Amino acid sequence: MSIFSKTCRRAAATGCSWCWRPRWIAVGALGRVRFPAGRYVYTGSARRNLAARLARHGRRRKPFRWHIDYLRRYARLAGVEIHPLDGPGECELAREMLALRGAEIVARGFGSSDCMCATHLVRLP
Ligand SMILES: [Zn+2]
Repeated sequence: MSIFSKTCRRAAATGCSWCWRPRWIAVGALGRVRFPAGRYVYTGSARRNLAARLARHGRRRKPFRWHIDYLRRYARLAGVEIHPLDGPGECELAREMLALRGAEIVARGFGSSDCMCATHLVRLP
């Protein structure tokens, strides 16, 4: 969790999940993706109703709407950090995550359908 305090000061929310065994998961329009076991960090934002959004991410079973919902079903939520939206936002945060040592893109375009980022989900060692 220590990475959060160093890198996630400004954006909306960062969630860390553990996927405890490798799994193929169909992720909406991305198709089937193989997720190795490990630690995943996802960045997103909610411009309103943040509490409701976070509560939603806390549930495993729900109608799937975002890419993270597909992974969330099989991953244990380890923690979330919330940051005010007065900073650069989720995309810069996602880039910071990607720049961390050992960060790996497992699914290109994950969570970044609406922006130019390679992904909003990274796997960390
Ligand atoms: Zn982005």
